[in-house]
Amino acid sequence: MIAIEYRQQEQTQILPAGTIAWTAGTAPNPFLMNLSISPEKRDKRGRLIVTPILQLPDFPEVFAAGDCAVESENPQPSTAQVAYQQGRAIANNLKRLSEGKPTVPASVNLRGTLMKLGLNEGVAISTRNFISR
Ligand SMILES: Cc1cc2nc3c(=O)[nH]c(=O)nc-3n(C[C@H](O)[C@H](O)[C@H](O)COP(=O)(O)OP(=O)(O)OC[C@H]3O[C@@H](n4cnc5c(N)ncnc54)[C@H](O)[C@@H]3O)c2cc1C
Repeated sequence: MIAIEYRQQEQTQILPAGTIAWTAGTAPNPFLMNLSISPEKRDKRGRLIVTPILQLPDFPEVFAAGDCAVESENPQPSTAQVAYQQGRAIANNLKRLSEGKPTVPASVNLRGTLMKLGLNEGVAISTRNFISR
């Protein structure tokens, strides 16, 4: 039998279930909260607001990307596909700075959203097609 065991009002409960969908949110790393960045330069989750170049507005020598950063004009979901593209954009701009070239805004190309349901099953929606198997 598949079941979920949980505590409610100090009692252990067991809820039998045929299918269990577990969802968990993500939160920015607590390390971010210790940085001297004012609340106005953060979003409501505490992520650091960055410029289109992914620099901190008050510390342009600092770049931030992925789950810890948000571009207020062009917010992206906290996913790996965003993080690695932003990381590549930062690396590209560091190279350009070292060569005396102007920096360029980061560009993120979302390739779709995947909801994995379990072994051998999943659904995906992209801008071009729909897959279910
Ligand atoms: C359960 C789960 C499922 C997910 N599934 C997907 C998915 O299917 N597709 C998708 O695109 N995204 C998915 N994500 C989101 C994805 O994992 C993140 O968006 C992505 O990893 C963010 O990359 P990042 O580099 O910003 O942060 P991370 O990948 O979290 O990297 C941060 C790194 O910093 C290190 N670190 C933390 N604190 C310190 C410190 N004080 N000093 C030094 N190092 C430190 C950590 O150890 C870690 O290696 C999922 C996330 C979770 C939790």
